[in-house]
Amino acid sequence: MAEDEYFAKIEAEKKARLAADLKAQKDRTALEERKALHWLRCGKCGAVMTTRIFRGVEIEVCPECGAVLLDRGELEALSGRDRSGFFEALSGLFGRESP
Ligand SMILES: [Zn+2]
Repeated sequence: MAEDEYFAKIEAEKKARLAADLKAQKDRTALEERKALHWLRCGKCGAVMTTRIFRGVEIEVCPECGAVLLDRGELEALSGRDRSGFFEALSGLFGRESP
C-alpha cells in the first residue's frame, strides 16, 4: 500500500538520521578522548612535555627523551626570526608555502 510505504520510508529516514547522529557523537567523543590522552604528551615516549622559551617562542620539550614539539604557529614564528633558513625549510614539511 502506498500509505504503508510512505510511513516505512519516513521511519527508515528517521532511523538513518538517528544512526548518523549517534555516529557523529561517537566520533566527537573518540576525538575528545584521544585529545585528552595525548594533550602535551611526547609522541615518542609519552612523558608530559614542558614548555620552554626558545628565541622568544614557547615550544614544548620532552624532559625524558629531549623530543621537541613545534606546532605550525610556533614553527612560523621561529621561521620569521631565523636567518639561516633552517626553520623556513622545516616549515616546508607542513606542506605550506614559506612566508
Ligand atoms: Zn619523550
